[in-house]
Amino acid sequence: MPPARAAFYAATVAALAFSARAALVGPPPLRVAALVAAVYFSMLMVGVLVLRLRVFVDAVIAGPPGSRGVVLTFDDGPDPKSTPRVLEVLAAAGVTATFFVIGRKAEQHPEIVREMVARGHQVALHSYAHDRLFAMRGPAAWRRDLDKGLRVLESITGQRASLFRPPIGHTNPHVAGVMHALGLTVVGWTVGARDGVRGSPRAVTDRVLKYAKNGSIVLMHDASERGDFEPAAVAALRDIVAGLAARGLPVVSLADWLQPLREGGAATGAPSVTTNRAPPA
Ligand SMILES: [Zn+2]
Repeated sequence: MPPARAAFYAATVAALAFSARAALVGPPPLRVAALVAAVYFSMLMVGVLVLRLRVFVDAVIAGPPGSRGVVLTFDDGPDPKSTPRVLEVLAAAGVTATFFVIGRKAEQHPEIVREMVARGHQVALHSYAHDRLFAMRGPAAWRRDLDKGLRVLESITGQRASLFRPPIGHTNPHVAGVMHALGLTVVGWTVGARDGVRGSPRAVTDRVLKYAKNGSIVLMHDASERGDFEPAAVAALRDIVAGLAARGLPVVSLADWLQPLREGGAATGAPSVTTNRAPPA
């Protein structure tokens, strides 16, 4: 079990015990009650915001131990302008990536999603609507959105997506159940390129090359969330792939990493896979 999840479980038990004691023995001083509530709420919020801690759901955040190379992932597409540019750079370098597409955008540009598949890339789900407040929604809303996204992708590619990355990486206590019900594996990341904000291609390249190592999953964007600017990774991608190669880090496929993890996880009936490596900053 990820250490942060164990800590959260322990905090939940302690909070329940505190409440039971308050009910049986009498209310604690207000200051103590406020402190306990603040600590517990802070732990809950960290769990919601920081996917790599895997407080609420198992998630792939890096390759299996000993894995070689780096996996490239792209969120928030497809976009008719920027995604084809990303596909061209990847093709020129002879590498493949995993695209976490937004169902609503895939519906508008199915030909780009088909092009991803035709070029050997993996198409995965990044929700249908990319609701920024998704973590505030209950399980029914998650299922509605993800069901819709899965149906859209299946109608385009002919295949059911098995990987999911939550919008802005936020999760909540309902997510594990929904993932299990829909047969989805959550994929996080090891190195965020920070290209979803308006950064320079140079800064994005430097950041990825600084932190990527064997087993890293790199998070980039082939489109901005609202399609209103080109993420810096698009212009940086050629240098990133060349820089990784120069450092002896080949770009590899996420599917190759997940296969042995899945086979290992099958014995325990785990709905998804977990890696326990601590990611760099
Ligand atoms: Zn996103």
